[in-house]
Amino acid sequence: MPALSLPDFGLDLGPELEAGMAEHRAEIEAIAAGPWPPTFADTIEALERAGGRLHLAERLFEDTSGSRSTPAVRELEAEMLPRLAAHRDAVGLDPRIFARIADLVARRHELELDAEQACVLDRYHRDLVRAGVALDPAGQARLREVNARLAALTAQFRRNLHEETAALAVRVEKAAELDGLSEPMIDAAARAADHDGFVLKLSLPSNQPALEHLHDRGLRERLWRASVARGRRGGEHDNRATVAEIAALRAERAGLLGFGSHAEYAIADQTAGSVGAVVELLATVGAAASTAARAEAERHTAALFADGHSGPLEPWDWPYYAARERRARHAVDEARLAQFFVLDRVIGDGLFAVAEALYGLVFVARHDLLTPDPDVGVWAVTDADGGDRGLLYIDPFAHDGKQGGAWMGSYADPAPLVGRLPLVYVTLNIERPADGAPALMSPLDVRILFHEFGHALHMLLSDVAYPRVAGINVASDVVEFPSKLHESLAVRPDVIARYASHHATGEPLAEADVAALNAYVRDGAPYISTQGTANALLDQAWHGLAPGETVAPDAVDAFEAAVLERHGLALPAVGLNCHSTFFMHVFAGPYPGTHYSYSWAAVLEAIALQWLDEQGGLTRANGQRLREAFLSRGAVVDPIDAVRAITGREPSVGPMLERRGLAG
Ligand SMILES: [Zn+2]
Repeated sequence: MPALSLPDFGLDLGPELEAGMAEHRAEIEAIAAGPWPPTFADTIEALERAGGRLHLAERLFEDTSGSRSTPAVRELEAEMLPRLAAHRDAVGLDPRIFARIADLVARRHELELDAEQACVLDRYHRDLVRAGVALDPAGQARLREVNARLAALTAQFRRNLHEETAALAVRVEKAAELDGLSEPMIDAAARAADHDGFVLKLSLPSNQPALEHLHDRGLRERLWRASVARGRRGGEHDNRATVAEIAALRAERAGLLGFGSHAEYAIADQTAGSVGAVVELLATVGAAASTAARAEAERHTAALFADGHSGPLEPWDWPYYAARERRARHAVDEARLAQFFVLDRVIGDGLFAVAEALYGLVFVARHDLLTPDPDVGVWAVTDADGGDRGLLYIDPFAHDGKQGGAWMGSYADPAPLVGRLPLVYVTLNIERPADGAPALMSPLDVRILFHEFGHALHMLLSDVAYPRVAGINVASDVVEFPSKLHESLAVRPDVIARYASHHATGEPLAEADVAALNAYVRDGAPYISTQGTANALLDQAWHGLAPGETVAPDAVDAFEAAVLERHGLALPAVGLNCHSTFFMHVFAGPYPGTHYSYSWAAVLEAIALQWLDEQGGLTRANGQRLREAFLSRGAVVDPIDAVRAITGREPSVGPMLERRGLAG
């Protein structure tokens, strides 16, 4: 049985990464020099076994960069990220390894591979071809230069964004200006100020939660303008030249590899079909959402005038009036609601109860295990029969050095082949409670936690032997399917009843509140879907550049405006909440050319939710079907075929638009 090998949080990461790369190089050298003809075991299996030390060091480094960043860590990033990229190229482009894999592919029918082995062989072959191994020496040399430069630019993008996010935090002198903010938000703003006054820190990616609450229109405007100014106001941390160069280099690389654009290159490895199919999906959602948003804007404009303000409705007004309308419609008060969501209960009676009901998983707190920080909790995860599935870490609180937002990561990917269990972590940014007070979560925090937990389950439930095609190592446009599905389960009345009760009185959440939380998807859809499709179309535009096509740094704003104009999404009161200069997901994150994945996953999610409702909800039988057909299978099955098999439905945009109340 695979054993747990615990991460060493005290490692000196610089030397460890060096040692990991050296070991990996030696392992690759041994594989490359192996006997001929190659076998599946001495090539593919050996490649899968190689690089274990580097894998663990890189994962610790990622977690440190994301959650415990310091100037020293950022320096290490600047030094190591380009070198790690060069290492990947040296390994990925080794012609001797490619020759072995190409030979196996040519003889695949005589190798008697099972489905997993065929999948991992095919994956290695495609990875190498996509990494440029088939290029001539001049092409490969240029590719290496491009990759090294891109790695440096990505690190620079992050550094600039980090500096800008800190520098543009909004100072507020008088408490009265913060009218409307909840007690915990005011406390956080007071703590963020060194001595007197308050500081509203900017959060990533883009939506500033305080905008929903601040009565002071002038302060709302300052906060919005600060948020959207990041990286595009001149000065040494301007990211416009960075993003223009990143996009141009990605286009050049796509051209070297025989594609018409980076988006074509990226989407060729996905499940949504083609650039055309993606743009059509986004245009359909964008048209439905912006039509609804125009109608909604009229209501908010009327409310703005009724408050005695003059028009027009501005982007800093929208979140405020939308929240007010939502509260009035459902008579909900989010500050009051937060009293019902206690972190420990959301985890134990929410997340873990759902995972037990659907998949039979059991979670046991392990107070004896080391964590990277005293706030981090860790649980051993087992199947109902006691079989080990791995560890889950949850890192809940916002603190200095932690990037904003929430994410799932892993210290180790699932790899039964090498006896490795997944060590998965979920990172959140909820406000740390005052001493002795319970840690309370907003309804949004709760949904985010369930979302990231969905990613974690995709790792913990993996039964694929080969790490390269296990867990979340699937086409990136289906990665968000399990997370969105579990996020939606968070507010099901039968789930919420288990974990939501008042922290002091124990009183359960009222039915009307549960209904209000379920209406959230529809209430927010016109705005969120308009912005979401605008962001995804902006990603398609940047990564739709042909090789040789460039955007001048001072034309970045105009480039963005043209994208909105072209797709009818230029609603002045919505605005672009994610300008290129702080669009982390595509310029320094995992989604260049594939940001549409959130919409595509929502299409899959909507049909899965329909199926789940028809089949009786959270039963072990339904969970087993999800687990067997999708969650345990990594990339070994075609994910769209799996969704078809589970639900008996063909993916189409209709159920998603209906779910969001946008179906015309
Ligand atoms: Zn996600």
